[in-house]
Amino acid sequence: MTEPKHLFIPGPTNVPDRIRRAMNLAMEDMRASDFPELVMPLFADLKRVFGTETGQVFIYPSSGTGAWEAALTNTLSPGDKVINASLGQFSMLWGKMCRDLRLDVEDWEIDWGEAFPLERLAERLAADKAHEIKAVLVCHNETATGVTSDVAGVRRVLDAAGHPALLAVDGVSSVAAIEFRMDDWGVDLAVTGSQKGLMLPTGLGIIAVSEKAMAATKTAGLTRSYFDFAWQASANASGYFPYTPATLLLRGLRESLDMLFEEGLEAVHARHHRLGRAVRAAVDAWGLACCARRPEIASDTVTAIMVPDHIDAGAVIRTAYTKYNTSFGAGLTKVAGRLFRIGHLGKMDEVKIMSGLAAAEMAMLDSGIAIQPGSGVAAAMTALGVGAAAATDRSAGLAA
Ligand SMILES: *Cc1c(COP(=O)(O)O)cnc(C)c1O
Repeated sequence: MTEPKHLFIPGPTNVPDRIRRAMNLAMEDMRASDFPELVMPLFADLKRVFGTETGQVFIYPSSGTGAWEAALTNTLSPGDKVINASLGQFSMLWGKMCRDLRLDVEDWEIDWGEAFPLERLAERLAADKAHEIKAVLVCHNETATGVTSDVAGVRRVLDAAGHPALLAVDGVSSVAAIEFRMDDWGVDLAVTGSQKGLMLPTGLGIIAVSEKAMAATKTAGLTRSYFDFAWQASANASGYFPYTPATLLLRGLRESLDMLFEEGLEAVHARHHRLGRAVRAAVDAWGLACCARRPEIASDTVTAIMVPDHIDAGAVIRTAYTKYNTSFGAGLTKVAGRLFRIGHLGKMDEVKIMSGLAAAEMAMLDSGIAIQPGSGVAAAMTALGVGAAAATDRSAGLAA
């Protein structure tokens, strides 16, 4: 690979030049006296991104999957009952991890394309008078299907039932891209990774932990060592880590957080919403369907597009890659060959997403999908409000 490909996968996402330059550094001493000057503000600023004042953040040299494991092993005991809704590849894998760790996971098989089932949870919690359920796992943004679940709604259901279960949320493809309000939603464990909304290379597993979840660590009996919160916390208190941190990624994280705050978190969320809406307008115009069953649950960070029955989505992805140097995400396991995914999170703007939609059109046309050339691009432009200001100016001119 001499020239970079055009990357429209939902992670790793494009790394901005500013962040790449911020990481182009010599190795540094992670026990130096001034190292905490880098580290301490990272914890404080990540709390802003998670939307928590009372939570505690841990940063591991791992991928997001490591932070999944940290969430479970620090707060639960062998045989603990947990609820998981398998509604796509990632929620399915978190459920598998629960089984691997010998938790008693009640794994709900949900149609891929649906969101976390709030009514089913309400019924299940009402039946759990003895409070045997210790945790509810929610994948905020299921990257395999492009579906966003209602975490605030899960909190409402837990509260309505007066149920004390921990609320553990996978925010790997939502945090730093779409709204995440840990404190307001009463999230106890919020997991993310560096290579999605944070626009960094893979290599940091990040987790925010509520006071309630920190208290649960005292009695949690699952085996843990590398990911032990207490071990992290004792070193983090003075701005250090118990083992070698990924110093270049921490430097990159500093730059990433600066970029997010310069744009403003609300503006970042609004941008993702605007771009997500434009992609969905394109899908409509193509006459295709999103994997997400309803527009209200469609993700603003990734769109999974169903191809017509007689077409192999793998062919679209291969054509995009070989002919147009463009990477789209594939359908995973249950939906392999049935869909392709456009990632539109992180470093993404109007021009970039328009180019991705044009590439998708070209690859689909070459693969025998009978869409109208330019239709998606045109619909996305309209959804972005392109030309609307000029039209207003013209009518104002006429009125004058
Ligand atoms: C990418 C992703 C993961 C896995 O993260 P890794 O960094 O690949 O370990 C987990 N959950 C969701 C929702 C994801 O998008």
